[in-house]
Amino acid sequence: MSTVLRSYVQGKWQAGSGTPQTLVNPSTEEALAETSTGGIDFKAAVAFAREKGGPALRALSFAQRAEILKALAKAVADAREELIAIGIANAGNTRSDAKFDIDGASGTLLYYADLGAKLGDAKVLVDGEGVPLGRSARLFGQHVYVPRQGVAVHINAFNFPAWGMAEKLAVTFLAGMPVITKPATATAQMAHRIMELWVATGAIPEGALSFVCGGVGDLLSHLGAQDVLAFTGAGHTAASLRALPHFARDSVHVNVEADSLNAAILGPDVSPGSETWNTFLAEVTREMTQKTGQKCTAVRRIFAPANRLDEVREALVERLAAVKVGNPADDKVTMGPVATAAQLRDVRAGIEKLAEGAQIATGGAMPVNGQSAPEGKGFFVAPTLIVNKTPRVDSPVNQMEVFGPVATLMPYADNGTLLTLVAAGGGGLVSSVYSDDRAFTQEVVLGIAPHHGRVTIANEKLAGQSISPGTVMPGLLHGGPGRAGGGEELGGTRGMALYMQRVAVQGHRALIEQMFGIKKDPAS
Ligand code: NAP
Repeated sequence: MSTVLRSYVQGKWQAGSGTPQTLVNPSTEEALAETSTGGIDFKAAVAFAREKGGPALRALSFAQRAEILKALAKAVADAREELIAIGIANAGNTRSDAKFDIDGASGTLLYYADLGAKLGDAKVLVDGEGVPLGRSARLFGQHVYVPRQGVAVHINAFNFPAWGMAEKLAVTFLAGMPVITKPATATAQMAHRIMELWVATGAIPEGALSFVCGGVGDLLSHLGAQDVLAFTGAGHTAASLRALPHFARDSVHVNVEADSLNAAILGPDVSPGSETWNTFLAEVTREMTQKTGQKCTAVRRIFAPANRLDEVREALVERLAAVKVGNPADDKVTMGPVATAAQLRDVRAGIEKLAEGAQIATGGAMPVNGQSAPEGKGFFVAPTLIVNKTPRVDSPVNQMEVFGPVATLMPYADNGTLLTLVAAGGGGLVSSVYSDDRAFTQEVVLGIAPHHGRVTIANEKLAGQSISPGTVMPGLLHGGPGRAGGGEELGGTRGMALYMQRVAVQGHRALIEQMFGIKKDPAS
């Protein structure tokens, strides 16, 4: 029997009216739950968050807000097994995929709890050194960040129902803003359970956190100059939200995390069998198949020196052949289905497009019977490696994201061509360079850096310690220019800037230093 999921607004759980959307198990296509937001008063929900949650959070110091985050992290960690089961059933996650999402959620909350504890009793973030303004040392200016007085609306994608919700929440709460969070409907069961656990902690001030389970209705029409929209999802959805006339008129703060054609680059110095070669293969395989390739940070484009192309293809095909596709309720399965029927349709169409003028080395768009899934059921696709020997700037591989276990291997003849092809992706979240040649690494890292939010370098010095590029680190920025949405999240205190107003305060130095708890400069 399917469960009814509810929203949590104005401090209470509310079931929506009207025609519900159904959540299914993507391995079996069985209905699991349904949800609707019909009849929910979003204007009142926004007002409640602004008027109750905002003042309550702003009254707390960073260290006190950190205590809330700690309680929320504990609630997630304590329910890990239950949440893993939900990830397997509703998101098609393997156990390991579900852990990645859930531990990412609790880990990011804990990272920001630690950061908040270090920021201590303050309520305002001091931004760098003060600026002397006149001949007298007394006349002085200081930049500080203060929390915005509106509400932050968070809209998340279907692929990380736990981590996506928790990482945005951690940063926003620490900054001092109330949140209305909305998971993608198809995989909302995980976020719904976490929200139940969070409410049960009693740690959240009234109005500080609301949860919308289903469509957003007219929610966004109530946002204004002190509010924030942080959106993660498809580029075309982001474009339509950015274009809302009142967003432009009132300068509503918007952060977008969207698509990305992340690249993995093998240096010309790396020979088969070396540490760096093995790291490259292991990380590319992991990035293609973890969460069935449904990660914004997954490797989509693989660049190898032309004289190594065949060896790389063979090694990747061999590794991908070991992947067992099926219902992750069977613990022998190593890759589950994609999340929805629509995803499956898009991935299949995408593979066909990428394969134009290229060869499929393994996998493809054909239907797949998942291991331990009912015959003919489930949204399964094979891990697919495409080889494009003559990539161009305008090839589909440099123009479209296929959000599944799919990547394209391409040769490069020289560094100039490589940099041009990587840049043709139009802006990405993360790309990785695998090389022990310092001159090559430096040229490529600096060459691709303007097109990315993060660049990872792996070499033999880091053998066994390298962190796969698709793992988002709370201390480092997540986001990227252009196609990736132009946003910035996380990065320690950097991510808090979206939820705070930076203001320059100018006047009497001693007063300003005292007001913001800045240690006195003995020279003044
Ligand atoms: P999507 O269709 O854009 O949906 C994303 C979210 O937006 C969902 O919560 C969806 O709600 C909501 N939404 C859809 N239309 C909306 C509207 N008109 N107004 C307000 N909200 C709306 O994206 P998706 O297909 O689920 O996600 C996959 C995409 O997300 C991929 O392209 C991937 O690269 C990107 N992604 C990026 C990151 C990143 O950090 N850069 C992370 C993960 C995913 P419903 O589910 O209720 O429709």
